[in-house]
Amino acid sequence: MEVKGIDRYWNPILETLPQEKLRELQFKKFKRIVEWGYNNSKLYRRIYDEAGFKPEDLKTWSDIAKVPTLQKEDYRDAQYKEPWPYGDSLCVPLEKVTEYHQTSGTTGQPVYQPDTWQDWEWWSESWAYILWAQGFRDTDRVFIPFGYNVFVAYWAGHYACEKVGCEVVPGGILNTEERLLKIKELKASALMATPTYVLSMAESCRNKLNMEAQDLNVQKILCAGEPGASVPTTKKRMEDAWGAKVHDHVGATEIGGWSYECTAQPGGMHPNEAFFLVELVDIESGEPIEEPNKPGKIIITAFDREAQPCIRFDSKDVSMWAEEPCECGRTFRLLKGGIHGRVDHITKVKGVLFSPVSVEEVVRGMPELGDEYELIVSKKGDTDVITLKVELEPETNATEEDVQPELARQLRLKTNLAYKIEFHPFGSLPRYEIKAQRFKDQRKHD
Ligand SMILES: [Zn+2]
Repeated sequence: MEVKGIDRYWNPILETLPQEKLRELQFKKFKRIVEWGYNNSKLYRRIYDEAGFKPEDLKTWSDIAKVPTLQKEDYRDAQYKEPWPYGDSLCVPLEKVTEYHQTSGTTGQPVYQPDTWQDWEWWSESWAYILWAQGFRDTDRVFIPFGYNVFVAYWAGHYACEKVGCEVVPGGILNTEERLLKIKELKASALMATPTYVLSMAESCRNKLNMEAQDLNVQKILCAGEPGASVPTTKKRMEDAWGAKVHDHVGATEIGGWSYECTAQPGGMHPNEAFFLVELVDIESGEPIEEPNKPGKIIITAFDREAQPCIRFDSKDVSMWAEEPCECGRTFRLLKGGIHGRVDHITKVKGVLFSPVSVEEVVRGMPELGDEYELIVSKKGDTDVITLKVELEPETNATEEDVQPELARQLRLKTNLAYKIEFHPFGSLPRYEIKAQRFKDQRKHD
């Protein structure tokens, strides 16, 4: 859907504020939240005191880099004690907390996330920017095919849908086939899901229900939770399967819904610069990166979150600034290619910097291959070996011998590395319900 004029923006003033004004506003808000954290949380006070930093040291934009960064482990260490369970990270009296969520805990003990009612309003407001930019309007019926449990993203998406006027259908409890039938019955026009699930729903639709997902009425899909919607070949697979526009979004429990792709589909995502300070820093040195096309790590501050502030949080996500502004007219910058991966996944293999997302781009770009793949880095003697497991599409006429040389060639072009390619029968690689774990680095355990 292409919307023109002022109706394009959820907040026409903030989303088109000249960059200079935007930086002024950001600095003011940054200073305010740093003071709030220092004055109200033992966690921030400890970290800043240890680093010899005081909020009054913040005088100009370049002082921002002096503020110590916060790691996920810092939350973990501060929590699990009184006031239970948020401990030293809590900035408000416990009775002010109205929402409980937590991280999934895939990388260790979950981080608990308290929010006040004001924070919760902030969540739905920041998500409203995302939905609006992706064309969600009051005419949409949005199906959310998950049980939300204690995970924040879809709760926030749900409330923001209501805020922009959409009708929301929560699709938890049901299994995949029942969800698809519900989408068909209600003629749902929009969907929110992880790329993994968007693809596996389309596969179930074809193989189990004998229908094509593109024959349902879904016109737009908001993706979250994994980088797939910013990988052009994965996006194309989803758009082809559903006959719908697919847009990416990135958020995190500790941070908020901080970034989104707009309907211009510029090949990147806008950080919401009215709500967040998004900095790009050199992965090794931590020096700020302002120039385009240079990969760096993303450090994020949420300006207005009071219960458990998120100040210069090390997201470990990697991206780069785009050189051109987006044609949608937003003055928020663009992160080119969305999130390219995580610092802990971008590793050196045979001395070459390697990002698993580039392999996904190649695999999903070959129509003879199915959606699933698995990537394992291991060690044989002193040599790193990368094994790529793939499946042939059931309907292809191509054989393994036809596909293998082209796959190897494209992988070498894209990543400068050689792979041990294994073909597995269709349907035998693991299928994932929500987020996939397709990359395994076994060298650390050898
Ligand atoms: Zn845009």
